[in-house]
Amino acid sequence: MGAKEILIAMNGSGLNLSLVGESIRVSPPEKLTDEFRAMIREHKTVLLEFLREPPPPSLPKTAHEFFAVFGKWPWNFSAAKPHPGRKWLKPEFVDRVFFHWCPECGRWGAAGRNFNPTRGKLGEWYCEKHFPKT
Ligand SMILES: [Zn+2]
Repeated sequence: MGAKEILIAMNGSGLNLSLVGESIRVSPPEKLTDEFRAMIREHKTVLLEFLREPPPPSLPKTAHEFFAVFGKWPWNFSAAKPHPGRKWLKPEFVDRVFFHWCPECGRWGAAGRNFNPTRGKLGEWYCEKHFPKT
C-alpha cells in the first residue's frame, strides 16, 4: 500500500492527515483507530514524503478550465505559437467550434487521427511538427 492509498483510505473514514513540523497530525484524533495508527507508524517515511510534496498545479483540460487559470480563452493566444497551457486540453467543441491543440507544444493541432465524432471519438491532434511518424 502506497502513501496515496493510505491517505485515500483514511479520508474515506473521515480522517485528515497533515504535516506539523516533522510529525503527522491526524484529525479528528478520536477517530484514529489502532489499525490506522499502526499503518501510519509502519509507513511513516513514505507518508511524510508524500505530505511534504506540494499539490500538483491544476492543469486545464477544457477551455473553461483554461480560462479559469489564464484569464483568456485558449484561442485568444496565437494558434501558431506554442502555449504550455494548451498541451493538456482535450479536443472539444465550444459553441459548435471544434478546438484541438497539439499535446506536445500547445500549437494548433492541424493534423489528426482517430477522429470519428459519430462514435464519440474526437481523435488525437498534433501540429505538423509533432505528428507521430509511425
Ligand atoms: Zn506540436
